[in-house]
Amino acid sequence: MTTAAEPRTFDSLDPVTGAVVGSHVIHDEDAVSAAVAAAGEPARWWAELGFAGRRRRLLDYKAVLTRNLREVAEEIRRETGKPLDDALLETVLAIVHLDWAAKHARSVLGPRRVSPGLLGLNMAATVEYLPLGVVGVIGPWNYPVFTPMGSIAYALAAGNAVVFKPSELTPGVGVLLAELFAESVPEHPVFQVVTGLGETGAALAAHPGVGKIAFTGSTATAKRVMAACAKNLTPIVAECGGKDAFIVDRDADLAAAADAALWGACANAGQTCAGVERIYVVDEVYDAFLRELTARAERIRAGEHYGPITMPAQLDVIRRHVDDAVARGRAVLGGADSVRPPYVDPVIVADVPEDSPAVREETFGPTVTVDRVADVDEALRRANAGAYGLAGTVFSGNRRRALALARRMRTGMTAVNSVISFAGIPALPFGGVGGSGFGRIHGADGLREFARPKAVSRSRFPLPGMNLTSFARTPAQLERLVRLVTILHGRRKK
Ligand code: NDP
Repeated sequence: MTTAAEPRTFDSLDPVTGAVVGSHVIHDEDAVSAAVAAAGEPARWWAELGFAGRRRRLLDYKAVLTRNLREVAEEIRRETGKPLDDALLETVLAIVHLDWAAKHARSVLGPRRVSPGLLGLNMAATVEYLPLGVVGVIGPWNYPVFTPMGSIAYALAAGNAVVFKPSELTPGVGVLLAELFAESVPEHPVFQVVTGLGETGAALAAHPGVGKIAFTGSTATAKRVMAACAKNLTPIVAECGGKDAFIVDRDADLAAAADAALWGACANAGQTCAGVERIYVVDEVYDAFLRELTARAERIRAGEHYGPITMPAQLDVIRRHVDDAVARGRAVLGGADSVRPPYVDPVIVADVPEDSPAVREETFGPTVTVDRVADVDEALRRANAGAYGLAGTVFSGNRRRALALARRMRTGMTAVNSVISFAGIPALPFGGVGGSGFGRIHGADGLREFARPKAVSRSRFPLPGMNLTSFARTPAQLERLVRLVTILHGRRKK
């Protein structure tokens, strides 16, 4: 008698102790295909529920998530090693986004009339945003609830079914998110999870039944995912890494700036896509700021204020960046010894050349470079010089100057006199430019990202003598049109 082969599994580990905290199925290409196929009918059912039906169920999912907040946070803690408080904060932010997406889907995506313009005088014109079908979400491990929820909640609210591939480091969190969803929507598997390694994500990206891929992860993997998507012309939203700059103006509140910079650099052990990685301080306040920052950082320790480096291979990257920065710059706090696996204590290095890895490449650790600049224009020039363009920060006592700097920063988001504050405001779009990716999650743009615009123009009555889309059109009609257009558009404005 032959028995079906047992599915292959992989373990998820506690990054602090190395203990196995869960074992999960490796979904191969066939299993991914089956999940996408199984999502087809649920996607149609979910779309037909309409905005009101989906809103009710998504708000119920929000309530279930909120009631299970501690359990979700505990699972995040187990798989990433981050302190429970940070895991709680991350889950709260995800809940806020889920709430916003559920409540705003109709007003953003629902049908609305638009002006038909003079040429369409006899027309009624409407635009609405329809679901794409099945959306594939591929997520990272650093914020295993907050980050993928930025796609999942918005894709679901827009009327799509979701197949989610969590990072191999945090599969248990992904499975739990889908289990809690099924409590609110037991009828159909509208939100499924496929666990596995990189190949599972690759199979999802290459599947012709997927209407869009929402990818969050490194720039290098995004390129591979895009190549897989190209096969079927599957669109993609890519949320990738960053090398975010923090600018301190001469009149900034230095205590507040140092406090924010330290948190932005070291929270979550620096494993934040929009974390602070380099600081540019205007000459007059450079020494005072560095003193403030260092005094605060001396009181912060890995394993107490933040967790371990979740992905062991990242330790090598951090070590390489720190060693190079210390050799070519000036170590202000910590150095090579700060890397004590699985932890890394805060590292501050000053006067690091702009072409060093610590200034150019994503470090993804609790390290920061601090450099002196003549003025904010130089700070901005340096901030904008890299390949990435995710987010950034400006601390200034002058509101107009700060806002002008924020606008000129070549990033998707800028926080002013606060750090990473845009991520907690669900109405704001989130995403980058350049190496940080393209497309947006969160806010109205995030909802539209998971929908296709549908334009409808309806003739309300015939326009005598003006049917331009007919072979019955006469030269005189066209002449009338040219005269009209010349009157309307031909004059040069003074
Ligand atoms: P990776 O790029 O290594 O992985 C991201 C996801 O892609 C994982 O689920 C991974 O699976 C999967 N994957 C790996 N190979 C493939 C492939 N060939 N095809 C399809 N999917 C694949 O990123 P990390 O998980 O290490 O996350 C850290 C990165 O994410 C950082 O660069 C960070 O800046 C960025 N990030 C960006 C955010 C943003 O919103 N802009 C937010 C959070 C993080 P597996 O884990 O199983 O290999």
